Amino acid sequence: MSAPAVYTGRFAPSPTGPLHFGSLVAAVASWLDARAVGGRWRVRMEDLDTPRCVPGAADTILAQLEAYGLVWDDGVLHQSQRTEAYAAALDRLKATDHAYACACTRSQLAAAPRNAEGETIYPGTCRAGLAPGAVARAWRVRVDAANVCFQDRVRGHLCQRLDIGVGDFVVRRADGLFAYQLAVVVDDAFQGVTDVVRGADLLWNTPRQIHLQHLLGLPTPRYAHVPLVVNAAGQKLSKQTLAPALPASGRGAVLADALAALGHAPPAELQGEGPESLLAWARARWHIENVPGHPVVAKRVP
Ligand code: GLU
Repeated sequence: MSAPAVYTGRFAPSPTGPLHFGSLVAAVASWLDARAVGGRWRVRMEDLDTPRCVPGAADTILAQLEAYGLVWDDGVLHQSQRTEAYAAALDRLKATDHAYACACTRSQLAAAPRNAEGETIYPGTCRAGLAPGAVARAWRVRVDAANVCFQDRVRGHLCQRLDIGVGDFVVRRADGLFAYQLAVVVDDAFQGVTDVVRGADLLWNTPRQIHLQHLLGLPTPRYAHVPLVVNAAGQKLSKQTLAPALPASGRGAVLADALAALGHAPPAELQGEGPESLLAWARARWHIENVPGHPVVAKRVP
Protein backbone atom coordinates (compact mmCIF):
# COMPACT_ATOMS: atom_id res chain seq x y z
CA MET A 1 0.00 0.00 0.00
CA SER A 2 1.25 3.47 -0.80
CA ALA A 3 1.88 5.98 1.98
CA PRO A 4 -1.10 8.23 2.65
CA ALA A 5 -0.95 11.48 0.72
CA VAL A 6 -0.13 14.39 2.97
CA TYR A 7 -2.51 16.58 1.05
CA THR A 8 -6.15 15.80 0.27
CA GLY A 9 -8.26 18.45 -1.38
CA ARG A 10 -11.82 18.34 -2.56
CA PHE A 11 -14.39 20.01 -4.78
CA ALA A 12 -17.90 19.89 -3.40
CA PRO A 13 -20.45 21.13 -5.94
CA SER A 14 -24.18 21.24 -5.28
CA PRO A 15 -25.98 19.63 -8.24
CA THR A 16 -28.41 22.51 -8.68
CA GLY A 17 -27.31 23.12 -12.27
CA PRO A 18 -24.25 22.92 -14.51
CA LEU A 19 -20.94 24.51 -13.54
CA HIS A 20 -20.43 28.11 -14.64
CA PHE A 21 -17.27 30.17 -14.94
CA GLY A 22 -17.25 31.10 -11.23
CA SER A 23 -17.47 27.46 -10.14
CA LEU A 24 -14.74 26.52 -12.64
CA VAL A 25 -12.41 29.05 -10.99
CA ALA A 26 -12.97 27.43 -7.58
CA ALA A 27 -12.54 23.91 -8.99
CA VAL A 28 -9.34 24.81 -10.84
CA ALA A 29 -7.85 26.46 -7.73
CA SER A 30 -8.61 23.44 -5.59
CA TRP A 31 -7.28 21.00 -8.21
CA LEU A 32 -4.06 22.96 -8.77
CA ASP A 33 -3.40 23.42 -5.07
CA ALA A 34 -3.64 19.65 -4.60
CA ARG A 35 -1.83 18.54 -7.75
CA ALA A 36 1.00 21.06 -7.35
CA VAL A 37 2.12 19.12 -4.26
CA GLY A 38 1.23 15.67 -5.60
CA GLY A 39 -1.86 15.54 -3.40
CA ARG A 40 -5.18 13.78 -3.79
CA TRP A 41 -8.23 15.57 -5.10
CA ARG A 42 -11.69 14.26 -4.37
CA VAL A 43 -15.15 15.21 -5.54
CA ARG A 44 -18.18 15.25 -3.29
CA MET A 45 -21.66 15.80 -4.62
CA GLU A 46 -23.53 17.97 -2.14
CA ASP A 47 -26.95 16.63 -3.05
CA LEU A 48 -28.39 16.93 0.42
CA ASP A 49 -30.80 19.74 -0.25
CA THR A 50 -32.93 17.49 -2.41
CA PRO A 51 -35.61 20.10 -3.19
CA ARG A 52 -32.92 22.24 -4.87
CA CYS A 53 -31.21 19.41 -6.76
CA VAL A 54 -31.80 19.31 -10.50
CA PRO A 55 -32.07 15.85 -12.10
CA GLY A 56 -29.05 15.13 -14.30
CA ALA A 57 -27.00 18.04 -12.90
CA ALA A 58 -24.57 15.77 -11.02
CA ASP A 59 -23.69 13.87 -14.21
CA THR A 60 -23.37 17.12 -16.13
CA ILE A 61 -20.97 18.52 -13.52
CA LEU A 62 -18.78 15.40 -13.59
CA ALA A 63 -18.69 15.47 -17.40
CA GLN A 64 -17.73 19.17 -17.28
CA LEU A 65 -14.89 18.48 -14.81
CA GLU A 66 -13.58 15.73 -17.08
CA ALA A 67 -13.85 17.89 -20.18
CA TYR A 68 -11.81 20.59 -18.46
CA GLY A 69 -9.11 18.09 -17.46
CA LEU A 70 -9.95 18.18 -13.74
CA VAL A 71 -9.46 14.51 -13.03
CA TRP A 72 -10.37 13.36 -9.52
CA ASP A 73 -9.27 10.45 -7.32
CA ASP A 74 -11.47 7.71 -5.89
CA GLY A 75 -15.21 7.45 -6.19
CA VAL A 76 -17.51 10.44 -5.91
CA LEU A 77 -19.07 10.74 -2.44
CA HIS A 78 -22.78 11.61 -2.46
CA GLN A 79 -24.14 13.39 0.59
CA SER A 80 -27.57 11.89 -0.05
CA GLN A 81 -26.00 8.54 0.98
CA ARG A 82 -24.53 9.84 4.21
CA THR A 83 -27.58 10.52 6.38
CA GLU A 84 -26.54 8.00 9.04
CA ALA A 85 -23.21 9.71 9.57
CA TYR A 86 -24.90 13.09 9.97
CA ALA A 87 -27.47 11.62 12.37
CA ALA A 88 -24.64 10.16 14.47
CA ALA A 89 -22.92 13.54 14.60
CA LEU A 90 -26.14 15.24 15.65
CA ASP A 91 -26.70 12.59 18.34
CA ARG A 92 -23.28 13.37 19.66
CA LEU A 93 -24.04 17.09 19.82
CA LYS A 94 -27.33 16.36 21.58
CA ALA A 95 -25.69 14.00 24.07
CA THR A 96 -23.23 16.69 25.09
CA ASP A 97 -26.00 19.31 25.23
CA HIS A 98 -24.36 21.30 22.46
CA ALA A 99 -27.49 21.01 20.32
CA TYR A 100 -31.06 21.90 21.25
CA ALA A 101 -34.48 21.76 19.63
CA CYS A 102 -35.89 24.98 18.23
CA ALA A 103 -39.55 25.75 17.65
CA CYS A 104 -39.13 29.09 15.89
CA THR A 105 -40.83 29.50 12.56
CA ARG A 106 -39.47 31.63 9.74
CA SER A 107 -42.11 34.28 10.41
CA GLN A 108 -41.22 34.39 14.11
CA LEU A 109 -37.64 35.12 13.12
CA ALA A 110 -38.50 37.65 10.44
CA ALA A 111 -37.85 40.59 12.78
CA ALA A 112 -34.49 39.23 14.05
CA PRO A 113 -31.39 41.17 12.98
CA ARG A 114 -29.41 40.01 9.96
CA ASN A 115 -25.67 39.85 9.35
CA ALA A 116 -23.76 41.26 6.37
CA GLU A 117 -24.47 38.06 4.43
CA GLY A 118 -28.20 38.54 4.94
CA GLU A 119 -28.48 35.60 7.34
CA THR A 120 -30.69 35.79 10.41
CA ILE A 121 -28.74 36.19 13.64
CA TYR A 122 -30.60 33.79 15.89
CA PRO A 123 -31.75 35.66 19.00
CA GLY A 124 -31.60 32.58 21.24
CA THR A 125 -35.36 32.22 21.71
CA CYS A 126 -35.32 28.45 22.38
CA ARG A 127 -31.86 28.25 23.95
CA ALA A 128 -33.14 27.64 27.49
CA GLY A 129 -35.83 25.16 26.37
CA LEU A 130 -39.06 25.18 24.42
CA ALA A 131 -41.98 27.27 25.61
CA PRO A 132 -44.86 25.11 26.91
CA GLY A 133 -46.79 23.64 24.00
CA ALA A 134 -44.15 24.63 21.44
CA VAL A 135 -43.28 21.98 18.86
CA ALA A 136 -39.65 21.20 18.05
CA ARG A 137 -38.89 21.93 14.40
CA ALA A 138 -35.16 22.35 13.83
CA TRP A 139 -32.01 21.57 15.81
CA ARG A 140 -29.49 24.28 16.58
CA VAL A 141 -25.97 24.14 17.93
CA ARG A 142 -24.93 26.48 20.74
CA VAL A 143 -22.19 28.98 19.99
CA ASP A 144 -19.97 30.74 22.50
CA ALA A 145 -19.17 34.37 23.20
CA ALA A 146 -15.64 33.88 21.92
CA ASN A 147 -13.72 34.63 18.76
CA VAL A 148 -13.25 31.76 16.31
CA CYS A 149 -10.11 32.50 14.31
CA PHE A 150 -8.36 30.86 11.38
CA GLN A 151 -5.53 31.59 9.00
CA ASP A 152 -6.89 31.73 5.47
CA ARG A 153 -4.14 31.09 2.94
CA VAL A 154 -5.50 33.80 0.63
CA ARG A 155 -7.29 36.20 2.95
CA GLY A 156 -5.01 36.08 5.99
CA HIS A 157 -5.92 35.92 9.68
CA LEU A 158 -9.70 36.13 10.21
CA CYS A 159 -11.89 35.93 13.28
CA GLN A 160 -15.60 35.88 13.95
CA ARG A 161 -17.64 36.10 17.12
CA LEU A 162 -20.30 33.52 16.29
CA ASP A 163 -22.64 34.74 19.00
CA ILE A 164 -22.69 38.22 17.48
CA GLY A 165 -22.43 37.32 13.78
CA VAL A 166 -24.67 34.25 13.52
CA GLY A 167 -26.09 33.08 16.83
CA ASP A 168 -26.89 29.43 17.54
CA PHE A 169 -27.16 27.96 14.04
CA VAL A 170 -29.20 25.20 12.45
CA VAL A 171 -27.69 21.73 12.10
CA ARG A 172 -30.94 19.96 11.24
CA ARG A 173 -33.58 21.88 9.39
CA ALA A 174 -37.30 22.04 10.07
CA ASP A 175 -37.87 19.93 6.91
CA GLY A 176 -35.76 17.17 8.48
CA LEU A 177 -32.74 17.65 6.21
CA PHE A 178 -29.31 17.97 7.75
CA ALA A 179 -27.81 21.41 7.29
CA TYR A 180 -24.87 22.11 5.02
CA GLN A 181 -22.67 23.18 7.98
CA LEU A 182 -22.97 19.82 9.70
CA ALA A 183 -22.67 17.70 6.56
CA VAL A 184 -19.60 19.50 5.26
CA VAL A 185 -17.74 19.07 8.54
CA VAL A 186 -18.60 15.38 8.87
CA ASP A 187 -17.65 14.70 5.24
CA ASP A 188 -14.44 16.72 5.16
CA ALA A 189 -13.24 14.60 8.07
CA PHE A 190 -14.56 11.36 6.52
CA GLN A 191 -12.78 12.08 3.25
CA GLY A 192 -9.53 12.94 5.05
CA VAL A 193 -9.56 16.47 3.63
CA THR A 194 -6.50 18.42 4.73
CA ASP A 195 -7.12 21.46 2.55
CA VAL A 196 -10.34 23.23 1.67
CA VAL A 197 -9.95 25.55 -1.31
CA ARG A 198 -13.29 27.08 -2.30
CA GLY A 199 -15.02 30.28 -3.35
CA ALA A 200 -14.99 33.33 -1.12
CA ASP A 201 -18.79 33.27 -0.90
CA LEU A 202 -18.24 30.51 1.69
CA LEU A 203 -15.62 32.42 3.69
CA TRP A 204 -17.88 33.26 6.65
CA ASN A 205 -19.14 29.70 6.91
CA THR A 206 -15.67 28.68 8.04
CA PRO A 207 -15.93 29.79 11.70
CA ARG A 208 -19.17 27.80 12.07
CA GLN A 209 -17.46 24.76 10.58
CA ILE A 210 -14.45 25.13 12.87
CA HIS A 211 -16.80 25.41 15.85
CA LEU A 212 -18.49 22.13 14.86
CA GLN A 213 -15.12 20.44 14.30
CA HIS A 214 -14.13 21.36 17.85
CA LEU A 215 -17.41 20.07 19.31
CA LEU A 216 -17.21 16.82 17.34
CA GLY A 217 -13.50 16.23 17.95
CA LEU A 218 -12.70 16.44 14.22
CA PRO A 219 -9.53 17.90 12.71
CA THR A 220 -9.63 21.40 11.20
CA PRO A 221 -8.30 21.51 7.63
CA ARG A 222 -6.37 24.46 6.23
CA TYR A 223 -8.59 26.92 4.37
CA ALA A 224 -8.09 29.06 1.29
CA HIS A 225 -10.91 31.14 -0.18
CA VAL A 226 -10.38 32.10 -3.79
CA PRO A 227 -11.91 35.16 -5.41
CA LEU A 228 -15.49 35.33 -6.42
CA VAL A 229 -16.05 36.04 -10.06
CA VAL A 230 -18.47 38.89 -10.56
CA ASN A 231 -20.16 40.31 -13.64
CA ALA A 232 -19.75 43.90 -14.82
CA ALA A 233 -22.50 44.94 -12.38
CA GLY A 234 -20.49 43.49 -9.48
CA GLN A 235 -22.87 40.56 -8.94
CA LYS A 236 -21.55 37.09 -8.16
CA LEU A 237 -21.87 34.72 -11.11
CA SER A 238 -24.57 32.30 -10.09
CA LYS A 239 -27.72 30.71 -11.33
CA GLN A 240 -29.61 33.69 -9.88
CA THR A 241 -27.61 36.12 -12.01
CA LEU A 242 -28.11 33.79 -14.98
CA ALA A 243 -24.47 32.81 -15.37
CA PRO A 244 -24.31 30.51 -18.39
CA ALA A 245 -23.08 26.92 -18.17
CA LEU A 246 -19.45 26.37 -19.14
CA PRO A 247 -19.17 26.04 -22.90
CA ALA A 248 -18.37 22.66 -24.40
CA SER A 249 -16.09 24.18 -27.02
CA GLY A 250 -13.24 26.68 -26.74
CA ARG A 251 -12.35 25.18 -23.37
CA GLY A 252 -8.68 26.20 -23.52
CA ALA A 253 -9.59 29.89 -23.76
CA VAL A 254 -12.09 29.59 -20.90
CA LEU A 255 -9.56 27.80 -18.75
CA ALA A 256 -6.94 30.46 -19.55
CA ASP A 257 -9.42 33.08 -18.28
CA ALA A 258 -9.97 31.04 -15.12
CA LEU A 259 -6.21 30.87 -14.55
CA ALA A 260 -5.95 34.62 -15.12
CA ALA A 261 -8.67 35.18 -12.50
CA LEU A 262 -6.47 33.19 -10.12
CA GLY A 263 -3.41 35.36 -10.80
CA HIS A 264 -1.82 32.74 -13.08
CA ALA A 265 -2.45 34.10 -16.59
CA PRO A 266 -0.79 31.78 -19.12
CA PRO A 267 1.66 33.35 -21.58
CA ALA A 268 0.63 34.16 -25.15
CA GLU A 269 2.56 31.12 -26.48
CA LEU A 270 -0.02 28.85 -24.85
CA GLN A 271 -2.90 30.42 -26.72
CA GLY A 272 -4.79 27.73 -28.56
CA GLU A 273 -3.68 24.99 -26.15
CA GLY A 274 -6.21 22.66 -24.57
CA PRO A 275 -6.98 22.10 -20.88
CA GLU A 276 -4.32 19.42 -20.30
CA SER A 277 -1.35 21.55 -21.31
CA LEU A 278 -2.70 24.67 -19.61
CA LEU A 279 -3.22 22.76 -16.38
CA ALA A 280 0.24 21.20 -16.62
CA TRP A 281 1.72 24.68 -17.11
CA ALA A 282 -0.19 26.12 -14.14
CA ARG A 283 0.47 23.15 -11.90
CA ALA A 284 4.23 23.67 -12.26
CA ARG A 285 3.89 27.36 -11.35
CA TRP A 286 1.09 27.37 -8.78
CA HIS A 287 1.65 29.81 -5.93
CA ILE A 288 -1.40 30.47 -3.84
CA GLU A 289 0.21 33.77 -2.75
CA ASN A 290 -0.47 35.03 -6.28
CA VAL A 291 -4.21 34.45 -6.00
CA PRO A 292 -6.00 37.79 -5.51
CA GLY A 293 -7.84 38.37 -2.26
CA HIS A 294 -10.58 40.44 -3.88
CA PRO A 295 -13.40 39.66 -6.34
CA VAL A 296 -12.43 39.56 -10.01
CA VAL A 297 -14.61 40.78 -12.83
CA ALA A 298 -15.17 38.19 -15.54
CA LYS A 299 -13.50 39.46 -18.71
CA ARG A 300 -16.33 37.86 -20.55
CA VAL A 301 -18.96 35.50 -19.37
CA PRO A 302 -18.16 32.55 -21.58
N1 GLU B 1 -21.71 22.78 -2.04
C1 GLU B 1 -21.22 24.11 -1.76
C2 GLU B 1 -21.49 24.99 -2.96
O1 GLU B 1 -21.64 24.49 -4.06
C3 GLU B 1 -19.73 24.15 -1.51
C4 GLU B 1 -19.38 23.60 -0.20
C5 GLU B 1 -17.93 23.77 0.17
O2 GLU B 1 -17.04 23.86 -0.70
O3 GLU B 1 -17.68 23.76 1.37
O4 GLU B 1 -21.56 26.20 -2.79
